[in-house]
Amino acid sequence: MSPLPSRLTLGKLILGLALLSAIVALANTLHASYRVQREQLIGNTLEANRVYASKLAETTQNFLLAAQQQLAYSAKGLGSRAHSVQELEREAARLQQQTNDFNSVLIVDRAGTVLATSPQSLALQGVVLNSSGNTEALKRREPYISDPYQSATGRLLVAITQPIFNTEGQYQGYVSGTIYLRQTSILQTLLGKHYYRDGSYLYVVDRNARILYHIEPNRIGQFAKDNPAVQAVSKGHSGAQEVRNSHGVLMLAGYAPVPAVGWGVVAQRPTEATLAQLSSLMSAVIWNAIPLGIVSLLLTWWFARRISLPLWQMARNVQNRDTGIAIRHVGATRAWYYEAAHLKQALLYSFNLLQDRIGKLNRASMTDPLTGLQNRRGLQQGLEDWQARGQPFGIIALDIDRFKSINDRFGHPVGDAVILRIAQIMRDDSRDTDLLCRNGGEEFLILLPGIDVANSALIAERLRAQIAGTTFDDVGAVTVSLGVAHYPSYHEDPQQALRLADKALYMAKEQGRNRTVIYPLEDTSLS
Ligand code: GH3
Ligand code: MG
Ligand code: MG
Repeated sequence: MSPLPSRLTLGKLILGLALLSAIVALANTLHASYRVQREQLIGNTLEANRVYASKLAETTQNFLLAAQQQLAYSAKGLGSRAHSVQELEREAARLQQQTNDFNSVLIVDRAGTVLATSPQSLALQGVVLNSSGNTEALKRREPYISDPYQSATGRLLVAITQPIFNTEGQYQGYVSGTIYLRQTSILQTLLGKHYYRDGSYLYVVDRNARILYHIEPNRIGQFAKDNPAVQAVSKGHSGAQEVRNSHGVLMLAGYAPVPAVGWGVVAQRPTEATLAQLSSLMSAVIWNAIPLGIVSLLLTWWFARRISLPLWQMARNVQNRDTGIAIRHVGATRAWYYEAAHLKQALLYSFNLLQDRIGKLNRASMTDPLTGLQNRRGLQQGLEDWQARGQPFGIIALDIDRFKSINDRFGHPVGDAVILRIAQIMRDDSRDTDLLCRNGGEEFLILLPGIDVANSALIAERLRAQIAGTTFDDVGAVTVSLGVAHYPSYHEDPQQALRLADKALYMAKEQGRNRTVIYPLEDTSLS
């Protein structure tokens, strides 16, 4: 057989297949869990920022309302009667220093002239203000919180203003507390607790999307109108969404309005920082999958071997030249699963069939078709076996007397029938171990294992008598002549021993036929 070209074994195929499906499964798991975790992380962060923004918006609103109340109480006192400058200054100082809610406090008359300030270092006493905050306060004559504006001292600030009315209800001016946007202020105190890890931060905008508070000081006072979170919170909405900040960085922003003033608080965290934990999560998944992956690969390798082994064993064993050995080995293969069991069955079936056929052919090639006795080849085979085993045997050579004339008188088919009948008598008269052979024409050989020459002669004589006593269809009486010898006592070569039996047969013919002659050993002239 020519060598098979492919080195791809079933075991390798199964292992490869298992590896492939494991990789696909792992990739799929990683992908799915990545997506789920990602969505969860983003969702959680958005929600956390929304809640945080709401919390701070509420705190801011509470502070502003409390501050307004404080100023309202003060305004009521200031309007109840006329006050000296000292009294006004004391009141301004009390308002500013008692709570530290305001960076400065101003008491201003209805002409816009500053009556008292705290701290006094502002040096604004007697100054007529012309800032937009002042103009607005004088015009509105009501409690309100200003938009950011540039103050008389050049600071960007927000003013909380309360009007002062006297007991007759006439407008007297206003008292105002300010929050500086670019200096340390109550806003920092309220909002600065937010920790800025991972790039997360918060900022506050007013109704016009102007930034009031931011971690980057230079952004304070700027507008953030393009930011969708700012747009939403300016409209008074609370919520969360992913936005791009002014640096182009994607942010997960939560926002909530401060309804009392139309401000909005935005708390946000970079998307990238949020998702940074994902990659470590994924590598954790992979590392955790490795031990079981190795175990399952080893198991697969073991199973692959167990699956391919019976096929391999059967394939190797059917190549055995000896069909019997092949059948035995294939039969001993442990075909433990369905297909292997069927293959084994099929192999054994065709082997047995093959062996049966070969056996039949062998037998056919060694038997004589007319009588079913052994032919010369069968005789030869039997002789070789016995010789190899050192089996002694008696030899009878048999020839039908005057057979030619039977043929001549009754025809060939009748001659055949006589041959057949004599073969039958021989068979009936013999043991299973005897070797009966039609040696050609109307000549036969009988080999009797374990029988000495004297007993062989007795058997020959009995056979002769039986044939002589038989009436043959059409022909009537038929006789035979027989010669007897023995192996190895007559000759150590079985072929020579056979020839001696033949010679004895001829002696029987010469002596008048229908008789048995034992080859005379002492008659050396004939050998
Ligand atoms: P004898 O042996 O007594 O000396 O005389 P014989 O007539 O038997 O002599 P021989 O051995 O010379 O003749 C054998 C004849 O047997 C010759 C042949 O025509 C015939 N014969 C050989 N084989 C067959 C066979 O298979 N069938 C038939 N019908 N005749 C056969
Ligand atoms: Mg003859
Ligand atoms: Mg003859």
